[in-house]
Amino acid sequence: RKIGYAIVGLGSYATRQIMPNFAGCEHARLVALVSGTPAKLDQYGAQYGIAATHRYSYADFDRIRDNPDIDVVYVVLPNSMHAEYSIRAAQAGKHVMCEKPMAVSVAECEAMIAACRKAGTKLMIGYRSRFEPYNRLAIELARGGHVGPTRLITAEHGFPARPDQWRLDRPLSGGGSMMDIGIYSLNAARYLTGEEPVSVSAVETTDKADPRFKTVEDRISFLLRFPSGIVANCISSYSSSHNGYRVIGTQGWIDMEPATPYQGQSMSIRKDGVTTPRTLPPAAKNQFAGQLDHMAECIVNGTTPIVPGEEGLADMRVIEAIYRSAAERREVAIRA
Ligand code: NAD
Repeated sequence: RKIGYAIVGLGSYATRQIMPNFAGCEHARLVALVSGTPAKLDQYGAQYGIAATHRYSYADFDRIRDNPDIDVVYVVLPNSMHAEYSIRAAQAGKHVMCEKPMAVSVAECEAMIAACRKAGTKLMIGYRSRFEPYNRLAIELARGGHVGPTRLITAEHGFPARPDQWRLDRPLSGGGSMMDIGIYSLNAARYLTGEEPVSVSAVETTDKADPRFKTVEDRISFLLRFPSGIVANCISSYSSSHNGYRVIGTQGWIDMEPATPYQGQSMSIRKDGVTTPRTLPPAAKNQFAGQLDHMAECIVNGTTPIVPGEEGLADMRVIEAIYRSAAERREVAIRA
C-alpha cells in the first residue's frame, strides 16, 4: 500500500507544486486535505478524488487521529503555524513533513523534535533540493574534492517580494528574506560542505521607508566560517533576484545558476583552466516526487529521513545567530 499524505494548508506551494506531483510518486499518495476555506476543500477534493470524510477544517484537525488512511501530515502553512500543526499531528500519531523554514525559533524546532520523538513518529523538513539531481551531484563533487578541496562558497538567493502577503508580516513569517529565501543560501552552504558553521558575521540592509519592510528585513549578507577553514559568503534578498551558488576549490569551481528553482538547474565546472557545462539526463522522478517518496520509504523501511527535524533545527540555530550578528554588529559564535 502507498503511504497516505494529508496536506495542511491549500496555498500556492501546496496546490501548484506538491499536490500535482503525487502523480509521479511510487510510494506516496494524497489521501486527505485540511483547509480553513470550504470552497478549496470542495475544489481540490473533487480534483484529487478526496472523499468528504477525508476533508478537514482547522477546527476538525485533531480528528485525523481516527483516520487510518493518513500516515503523514504535510504542513504547508505560514511559518509561525508550522510548530503548532506539526506537534498536533505528532500527538495524533501521524508522521510529520513540514515546510521550510521548520519554524520561527530554535525553541519551536526543539519542541517539534521532542513531540515527534515522544509520539514515535518521523519528522522531515521540505528541503526539496536534496532530491534534485544537480544539487545531489554538486554535493558529491564538492565534498569529493572534484575541483580540489573547497576553499570558498558563494551562495545568493532572493526575489523582489510582492506587497500584501504573510511573508512580510512578522507574526506569521517570523522574519523577512532570511527565513523565506536566504535559508536556501544557508542550507546550500551546509550541504555543500557537510559541515556546521562555527561563526557568522551578518549585515542587514533594509529601507524602513519601503512599506513592504515595516516588520521584516529586506537584505542580509552573511559570512559563515566552517571548521575546516571553508568560508561561505551568502546573500539573502527581498528586493533583488538571485538564485545560485559557486563552490570554489583549489583547482577551479562548480557553478550552479539557477541552483534551487522548481526546475531548470544549470551547472558548469571550471577545472584546471577549462570551463565545461555539465548536463544530466532527464530524471525519472522530479524533486517533489522524490521528496514525497523518500518520507514514504523511510516509514516503510523504518529509516530516518536525510533531512530530519535536526536539519531544520541546524538552519534555525544559524538564522538566530545571523539576526543577532546583524543586530549587534559583530561576529557571533554558533553553538552546536
Ligand atoms: P501561501 O500564502 O500561498 O499559502 C499559505 C496557506 O496557508 C494559504 O492557503 C492560507 O489560506 C493558509 N493559511 C492558514 N492560516 C493562515 C493565516 N493565518 N494567514 C495566512 N494564511 C493562512 O504560501 P505558500 O507560498 O504556499 O507557503 C506556505 C509554506 O510553504 C511556507 O512555510 C513557505 O516557506 C513554504 N514554501 C516552500 C517552498 C519550497 O520550495 N520548499 C516554496 C514555497 C513555499
